[in-house]
Amino acid sequence: MRASAPVPSPCISVCRIDDTTGWCEGCLRTLDEIAAWGSLDDDSRRRTWASIGERRTTLAGGKLPPTLRFIERDWLSSNQIVGFDAGIATVVDTGYAKHAPLTVLLIERVLREAGGARLGRIVNTHLHSDHCGGNRALTDAFGCTTTIPQASAAEVAAWDEAVLTFVGTGQRCPRFSFDAVLAPGDTLRLGELDWRVLAAPGHDPKSLIFHCPDARLLISADALWASGFGVLFPELQGESGFAEQQAVLDLIATLPVDRALPGHGPMIDDVPAALARAQARLQAMRSDPARHARHALKVLVKFLMLDVERIEAERLAANLRGAHLLRDSAALLGLQYDAALRWAIDELVDQGQLQRDGRWLMNV
Ligand SMILES: [Zn+2]
Repeated sequence: MRASAPVPSPCISVCRIDDTTGWCEGCLRTLDEIAAWGSLDDDSRRRTWASIGERRTTLAGGKLPPTLRFIERDWLSSNQIVGFDAGIATVVDTGYAKHAPLTVLLIERVLREAGGARLGRIVNTHLHSDHCGGNRALTDAFGCTTTIPQASAAEVAAWDEAVLTFVGTGQRCPRFSFDAVLAPGDTLRLGELDWRVLAAPGHDPKSLIFHCPDARLLISADALWASGFGVLFPELQGESGFAEQQAVLDLIATLPVDRALPGHGPMIDDVPAALARAQARLQAMRSDPARHARHALKVLVKFLMLDVERIEAERLAANLRGAHLLRDSAALLGLQYDAALRWAIDELVDQGQLQRDGRWLMNV
């Protein structure tokens, strides 16, 4: 984003004034600011954007320091956490490729609300396609650098899509490169705070999470959500994931944390309750690994349907021929691949997550 670019209107076509605050629910401007917008010069418009940023922080109820922003996305794209350090922003995780143009717009908006900060850096907690699918679009748009987990450096340098899980899941991710790496034990400076970099295997053997003892905050990626955690992919391939996830949850329970910012879903205000839910879920999976494999199959099919939205069932099966993580899940269940896929689709249709119309499948 260049300072000389025209300053866009904050309007997002919601245009309802909140009686209590007097601000538009969509763009957080006052009626006076909305009326005056057309006659303002660029500097005044930038000042209005900065006021909007302050109002958004106020509305968030002071849950986060003013140097941090949490952007909740849907389930196809990971959430973003943006930290500001002296006018330079860092974004943690970048969503899925399909939503990359929207991610660029959301980051532009957050930068404007911060008074015209510059995006300096991407940091990835891990390299699943829904966490790094916007890397390329953001580096193209902002010229920022990219920091990834050190354990993933070799496969990114070689762009080995099999090791990077994009082949195994049938998902896609535009190629990106990196400028720096992070490893457990490092310190990440983000939002004028120091964050300890911790290993969080289980969901992904190479995933990192970030803990800030001073602010009692945790960026928990897919290791802890408000209700659960990400699929434990190593278990699908006959490797250990349950024990690692257990250790990560046990570790989080020892950390001084008041609030966690997960990779998906809402901010976690009650961390002990979220940990209890995750522990219960993990125990249920450990005692019945087939339950986890069934869950994984449904998650993978649903993800692909979120991406394509509408496809013929036969073509979906054909597209997924090479997705060995689905094949592995089917094998764990003692099912033929096609039968497992049919089962997952039927289940998702029964649960109202997909709709069937003749040969066609639609995401709901
Ligand atoms: Zn993930």
